[in-house]
Amino acid sequence: MTLLQARAVVKSYGPTPALRGIDLDLEEGRILAVTGPSGCGKSTLLHCLAGILPPDSGEVRYRGRRLDEASEAERSRLRRGEFGVLFQFGMLVPELTAAENVALPLLLAGGGRRESRATALDWLGRLGVEELADTLPGEMSGGQQQRCAAARALVTEPSVLFADEPTGALDTLVGERLLGLVVGLARERGMSVVLVTHSATVAAYADAELVLRDGAVDPSGLGMSTGAVR
Ligand code: ADP
Ligand code: ADP
Repeated sequence: MTLLQARAVVKSYGPTPALRGIDLDLEEGRILAVTGPSGCGKSTLLHCLAGILPPDSGEVRYRGRRLDEASEAERSRLRRGEFGVLFQFGMLVPELTAAENVALPLLLAGGGRRESRATALDWLGRLGVEELADTLPGEMSGGQQQRCAAARALVTEPSVLFADEPTGALDTLVGERLLGLVVGLARERGMSVVLVTHSATVAAYADAELVLRDGAVDPSGLGMSTGAVR
């Protein structure tokens, strides 16, 4: 089943378009890498797909529904319940401990305090940072913050994970573990993933690769990493 669909998505910040008409389809349980040189529009595309940034024209559909025409309330409900978002720099709430940061999406979705904390601790454990549960982000390394942010992005068991250079702040081994976890969730739970990366090693975890060049899909780059699935 197609979960996410983009048709002729155009987005400009000024006179020069950052996206010049992007088409893509993301199936349930599939991992799509979005790659290409710096400034080609990867992050802009991710933001448009996740309903964070409205496209100037074109369509973004989630489960067949027009995301670009949905109200802000509807898009924020989706982001909370069905989308998980993970950026290169975790952007944790600085005043909250790791466990509180990770429990936050569950509490916002109406979860109980004790149960949300227990689930948050479980996810911190899966990311190998359970010992940081009561630590504030300012007392953590960049890599530790990123692992907590990954736990926060996954704690609601989203249908789609939008990840922008998720391993940028991680050392190789920790990055591989995070990607392994993401692949496992795609295979076992049917989570779909949009994975923005400039790294061929990271893109090799994907089922398919969309190569952008100057805001357009580079046809010669299509499918480069297909088949390299672990
Ligand atoms: P990538 O993620 O591939 O590096 P981006 O989507 O961040 O590319 O950027 C695409 C283009 O849009 C670049 O030329 C960038 O300078 C421009 N751009 C991105 N964000 C903004 C913004 N907030 N304001 C103005 N220009 C932007
Ligand atoms: P990770 O393995 O999570 O990527 P790093 O390699 O950045 O973490 O850091 C290794 C260790 O150094 C961490 O376990 C942490 O205790 C310590 N450390 C590094 N940077 C900081 C920092 N800014 N504040 C506190 N501790 C840090």
